[in-house]
Amino acid sequence: MNIRNNDRHNLWQEWADKYARRVRKITENPNPKMARSNALLYQILYDQATKEAEYSTEGSPIPVVYHTENAPDRFFRSMGFRANNLELNADHLSREQVGRYLNIGREFGYPDNICDRVKLAHAIGISGDVPAPIMVVPVVGDCDLMSQAMCSVARYWNVPAFGIDMPYQEELDMGPDEYLDAMKYIKQQLLEFIEFCEKKWPDFIKFDAEKLEEYQRINREYTRAAADVIELAKTKPCPYSGRDALRMAPTQVPDDRRVIDYMKQYVSEFREKAKRGESPLKDNIEKFRVYWMCSAPFYYDPFTFLEERGCASPLYEEESGIPHRYNVMNSESGERRFGRRMLDPLEEEAALFATHHWGASGNRRILEVLDNCRKVGIEGIIHFELEGCLSLNNIARITGERAEKELGIKNFYYLSAHCQDIDKWDEADFEEKLGDWLEMCLREKGF
Ligand code: SF4
Repeated sequence: MNIRNNDRHNLWQEWADKYARRVRKITENPNPKMARSNALLYQILYDQATKEAEYSTEGSPIPVVYHTENAPDRFFRSMGFRANNLELNADHLSREQVGRYLNIGREFGYPDNICDRVKLAHAIGISGDVPAPIMVVPVVGDCDLMSQAMCSVARYWNVPAFGIDMPYQEELDMGPDEYLDAMKYIKQQLLEFIEFCEKKWPDFIKFDAEKLEEYQRINREYTRAAADVIELAKTKPCPYSGRDALRMAPTQVPDDRRVIDYMKQYVSEFREKAKRGESPLKDNIEKFRVYWMCSAPFYYDPFTFLEERGCASPLYEEESGIPHRYNVMNSESGERRFGRRMLDPLEEEAALFATHHWGASGNRRILEVLDNCRKVGIEGIIHFELEGCLSLNNIARITGERAEKELGIKNFYYLSAHCQDIDKWDEADFEEKLGDWLEMCLREKGF
């Protein structure tokens, strides 16, 4: 099957149009329960999408590398690539867009009961709807299903796949020496990656350490501002909605300094709301608070359902402000883990892989989750796992057991579902079951 011969869509243009609509809506008719600073975020994403849309129609001398979420975008950009994060692309598909890519996935041979992110990232990767890559970078040891999908995309385009291997070790056996060894092992691969690319594309690709340092500085400032989100999350009633908590750090625009302003605006507007005791909760009364884990249904808003019943979702597993994400040197775990600061930009980049939330035994994730639960006073956990996810298989149960044993959090709600495939969603069934669970939690608290 050659998708490239079929009709093509300019996916970046469709995203640019979507972001333009969102900026307009927030500016002209904002939802008082949602962050106004989202207008700036969507403006940044609009600018990126517009540029990429132009490249899609007119071409560009700047070559594209496809990668997955946990390969740092900024590293590729510091070498002169344009970077396309297929995993985020899959998450950003709107309801109107998603059917096309689910069908491409089906035609390719994916069964329906496999993780949406994997099959959609793969489908976009082979669709020809975003500019073709000259290379694909899977990250081995994070999500192996996604790595396999990325190797398949590379074969489709007949371009090199350069795997970056995260060394796998039991988290509980890792001290500073093991962390440093892991960092050095990954740094060596980054050096090999640079050497390979500079030799293969000498006219385009040259690693620029200063550029990487600049992107890391932007990220550090962003992370510093985002750290206050965890402080805000401790406030009751929680001043922001679960939908806003769901927003991840915009790592796909690592070169745009405006992301720092966006995060500062986000924190400042919710700090003001917290002072006034405002929240998206019914009557501003918080009865219960949950940690929303893994993913979410992007075609449906479960948070308003919870908020109307007095349940706040102050934390999402991947949200901005969650410690241990995307920044090593200034995160609270960096020096503790390595015993020293990182000495150069490549060490910092390698350390990012070495400390990744998903890149070790389940214990790393569980320790981080329990730590965040403690900080924010979590009372229940909702584990929205994607159907067909191999990486999370069984961790949910162990996370629930540990949360109960170590923190006394006995309310754990597990569901395995699809984040993008709306045809598999039964809203009535979901609301009935979640509603029953929440009622039970509230009863236990005397409501
Ligand atoms: S949800 Fe699971 S299978 Fe899907 S991309 Fe994430 S880790 Fe991989």
